[in-house]
Amino acid sequence: MPIHEKSLIRPENLREHEELVIDGMDVSGHWSTFIEGRSVSDYNEKMQEEIAALPGGENIHRCWQCGSCTNACTVNAVNPDFNPRYWIYLIRLGMEEELLRDKDIIWQCVSCNKCTDACPRDVVPEAVMHATAKWLELKGHTEKKPSTHFDEGFSQQVIDTGMIEDGLVMRDFFTRMKNRWAPFKEPYLVAMIQGIIKRAPLGYLLQMFTLLVFRPRTKGWGPAKAGIMEYIEEVEANNRKALGLPAEGKH
Ligand code: SF4
Repeated sequence: MPIHEKSLIRPENLREHEELVIDGMDVSGHWSTFIEGRSVSDYNEKMQEEIAALPGGENIHRCWQCGSCTNACTVNAVNPDFNPRYWIYLIRLGMEEELLRDKDIIWQCVSCNKCTDACPRDVVPEAVMHATAKWLELKGHTEKKPSTHFDEGFSQQVIDTGMIEDGLVMRDFFTRMKNRWAPFKEPYLVAMIQGIIKRAPLGYLLQMFTLLVFRPRTKGWGPAKAGIMEYIEEVEANNRKALGLPAEGKH
């Protein structure tokens, strides 16, 4: 049974009569508000199945629409349009077009996992949000989201070197975003860099800049790298297969 929230009613679906009198009673304006009926015929019956087949989406069928996830959600507190309960509802019904109206904000999940903690059905809504964002990308509905660029850069560094260097991760992120000069344009990033330069010990800063030039690697990392690459390719192939997409290149 769906929960109807006022915030989910699209303004274009609201109708009011400027002047309406029924049985002598004036119900003009706000008093005559009604929601325009609509019929949905383009269900995607495979949507739940496809998202459930992606990592993190496995428990979506358990949702009983209590709304605890949305109630606990960090992002919903600042943007009421960010509504995990509602999106899970749409996915389970196969209402793809309705879900696509919110496609540009679903990736904004900050992985605080408050929803996962609040969920009485072990749906793991945080993971479902990421599976949904991945599904949107694989289906070509959205570009790669910034967090995907970050994750890919972070993972690639571990795969290549067996190590993580903060400076390299950030440089790689902005390069992948095709905005490598962003740190010098965004005021909050400039403030952050200034803060690091002012407070970090000189030895740490020297080490960070040195590591940007000479990328260190873990000794004997080759076999581990090969194993990780094999695993990632297998997962990516399974994801594409679950969505009926043709196989593609590497990570
Ligand atoms: Fe569904 Fe869990 Fe969210 Fe409740 S808290 S609406 S069961 S995902």
